[in-house]
Amino acid sequence: MKTRLLYPFSGIAGIFFPVGKPEDDGTCQFYTTKCLLACAAIRCNPKEFEQIGHEKKKALYDFIVGESIFKVLNKITQELKEMECTFIYWFASGDCTTKDKSRILKIVEYLSLEGIIQCGYTRSKDFWSDVRKYTDNIALTLESYAEVQKTQSRGLFAIPNYKKGKVEMYRGNYNSGTCGASVYTYKKIERKANCLECYANKQGCFFELP
Ligand code: SF4
Repeated sequence: MKTRLLYPFSGIAGIFFPVGKPEDDGTCQFYTTKCLLACAAIRCNPKEFEQIGHEKKKALYDFIVGESIFKVLNKITQELKEMECTFIYWFASGDCTTKDKSRILKIVEYLSLEGIIQCGYTRSKDFWSDVRKYTDNIALTLESYAEVQKTQSRGLFAIPNYKKGKVEMYRGNYNSGTCGASVYTYKKIERKANCLECYANKQGCFFELP
């Protein structure tokens, strides 16, 4: 099987890491009982879940954390060219584990120097604080608005609504829409979730505080 690192996700190129607890061969080190039960990567996108199954995720993850950074960057750049895309979505499934943090930060840094725009979601607070040097469009997933307020940060946050299979996005205290199950909603207006559109309109993960 030829390893592929990027797959289409929400209009851009997504990086799908293996889902689940690290002891179960996943990368969700910062899982909560709730999120494992309601995992959006499995439940909201059953088609995608079948197409990009665990083996493919595992193979691309092993490549990204195991091959030389030069080789990884080369392959990502080549696949982006083929997809005619300059955007990457980190952790379309799975997450950044502590052991992979410094490598992934290096990859994000190099890609941002190449002008690649990067967004995504993580539950790793450490990774999130460090990655903000290179991109402020990766959201930290927290369980409640009270937790967002506690951070007193103007960073990007996502709060899951497990029943609806969606997340509420916040830039600091400002609600920048709801995203999930392929739909993005802002101020009661719904449209298909598409990161390129959010980027163009400065919405969702690309919302900027005045
Ligand atoms: S809010 Fe917009 S940019 Fe963020 S994941 Fe949803 S569609 Fe993509």
